[in-house]
Formats: sequence, structure tokens, C-alpha cells
Amino acid sequence: MIISGPCSAESEEQLLETCQGLKNEGIEIMRAGIWKPRTRPNNFEGHGATALDWVAQVKKELNVKFAVEVANPQHVELSLKAGVDILWIGARSTVNPFTVQEIADALRGVDIPVLIKNPINPDLALWLGAFERINNVGITKLGAIHRGFSSLQESQYRNVPAWRIPIELKSKFPELPILCDPSHICGNRELLLDISQKALDLNYDGLIIESHRDPDNAWSDASQQVTPKRLGEIVRALKIKAMTSDNSDFINILEELREQIDESDRDILESLARRMSLVEKIGEYKKSNDVTIFQVNRINDIFKSRKEWGSAMNLSEDFVEELYKIVHIASVKRQTEIMSSIPADTSTSD
Ligand code: PEP
Ligand code: MN
Repeated sequence: MIISGPCSAESEEQLLETCQGLKNEGIEIMRAGIWKPRTRPNNFEGHGATALDWVAQVKKELNVKFAVEVANPQHVELSLKAGVDILWIGARSTVNPFTVQEIADALRGVDIPVLIKNPINPDLALWLGAFERINNVGITKLGAIHRGFSSLQESQYRNVPAWRIPIELKSKFPELPILCDPSHICGNRELLLDISQKALDLNYDGLIIESHRDPDNAWSDASQQVTPKRLGEIVRALKIKAMTSDNSDFINILEELREQIDESDRDILESLARRMSLVEKIGEYKKSNDVTIFQVNRINDIFKSRKEWGSAMNLSEDFVEELYKIVHIASVKRQTEIMSSIPADTSTSD
């Protein structure tokens, strides 16, 4: 499923021309921002109800479906009246349970698909809460949009993908369709294909991508929009991989590799168990010699040397560091149990 259209509906001509171009590329569901949540005031904030008339007009002329963002009960009411087919809740609304509840209350008794973008902050519970609120009023056609998350870390992305969050959502609710919004993740058009392909490789159900007849002169999100023609090229370049294959060679080889993985995981756990029994021995030894558990120099040495060893074995430093944080917490916890009869407090052990 591909949804595409301009970040904002700027004029009737811009909307019609863009959607006509997209329809020529085989796109059947359009998107357009009618009310735009802008970070700073005095920017273009959408044409509101006027633009909904253009949506109705384009729907009629091109025989396409339309999705729009709603952020309050009035938006819901006007969009339903205009015959909008799909509603979505934007990232800035999903963060606010009051807003989501108001939207939910306006949707009571309505049968329309609702897509919920992830909240701006990487908080799965907040995203889940929004689904629960909308589902509680009887909306059953729900879908998720992964549009990335704000981050303090420097990144090539406008909003870091943090794939583990949508993956966790999908593993909790396998039936929930999930779309990726590479436009708002990337913030620039160069990275769109990569992120879209990655989403499909992770078995996403579709994409929502911004497209504009004249991207560089768009009134919002100019650098991430692409022409309908380019959108068509991106879609055609994407490879849809099968979840599995009937080919018996493929199945045999996969089976064999999985057996090797199982064996390797056994080795890992045996090594960890061996390490833990050494940790216990050290704990006893420190206890009988009245020495503290936590020894900064040793910890620093461990992190430094393990990262070096890992690098030499082609394991990323980040991975080794994360792994040793967990190993270290578990080791300190075990030693604390040995040293004292007071239950260990792991929250202070890292
Ligand atoms: C949009 O889709 O144009 C938009 C405002 O997105 P988000 O809510 O993801 O910021
Ligand atoms: Mn946008």
C-alpha cells in the first residue's frame, strides 16, 4: 500500500496536478496536509476547510481515495463531512492523551480507517495508549505510521528511525498494519529509497511518502518531497521480498544455518554461565578479604579491552559496549547478593 501526496495542500491547482501525476504512476491513495502543525508561528498553517473542498473536487475528478491529518474534533467533523476516506493522527498529537481522547470522542460511532503516527518521543506505551483510546470508541480499522523520533544525538536523519520500537509494536500486535513514513524520518529526498527498502525488508505493510509537483518550492517540508515522477521511480526500484520460499534447497540451507545458530547460542550461554561462576568465586574472595565489589579501574579496563577484542572480531564497539553493560549489571548484582544479605539494588549498580 502506497499513500502519497503533498505535505500541504497549497492550492487547488497544486493539489490536482500533484495527484494527477501520482495517479499516472499508479498511486490510488493520496495524502495532503489541510491543517499543518508548524513548530514556529507565522508559517503557513494550511488552508483548513477551504482545502477540504479541493480534496473533495480531486477525489471526484480522479476517482482516488484521500487521507488527511486531524488534530481536534473540529478537524474530524469537517473531514468526515468532506468525504475524506482515511484519517491520521500526527506525531505531535499522539504525544498528548487529552488530544487523542478528544479525537476519539469525535469518532464514536464512525466507521473510518484511522492511522496513528508514532509520538515524537520514543515511547511505545504512549503510542499504544493512542491505539487503545481510538479502539475503545469502536474504531476497528487501525494502522500505525512509523515516522521516526526526535533525538538529541546527531544523525543523518530528521527523525531517527529507532526500528526496535515499531518492531516491538508489530510483535505485540501482528495483525496491526504498519506503514513507514520515510519522508519525515529522512528529512531529505536522497535517503528515501534506502529507508523505504529497509521498511519493506522488515515486512511493513506499506509506505506514506510526500510528493509535490514542484518540491523545491513547496510551502512546507520542501527538501524531503519528490515529484510524482520520482515517486514512481522509487516505488518501482523497491524490491518486495517473500516472507519465505517454497524452494526446498532454500529451506534446507536455512534449517542448517538455524541449527548452527542454536549451537552457537548454547556456546554463548555456557560461556556466560562459566563467567558467572568465576564472578561468584571473586565475590566470595572479596568478601573474605573485606574488599569492595565495585572497582572502577577494573571496570574501565574491561570495557576498553572487550571493545578492542570485539573490533578485531568484526563486532561493533556499540554492540560490545551494550552487551558488557548488561553482563556487568548482572555480575554486580550476583556479587552484591553474595556480599550481603540485603537484596541487591541493581538500579545503582551501573
Ligand atoms: C505530515 O505528515 O506532514 C506531518 C506533519 O507529519 P508528522 O506528524 O509525522 O510530523
Ligand atoms: Mn510534512
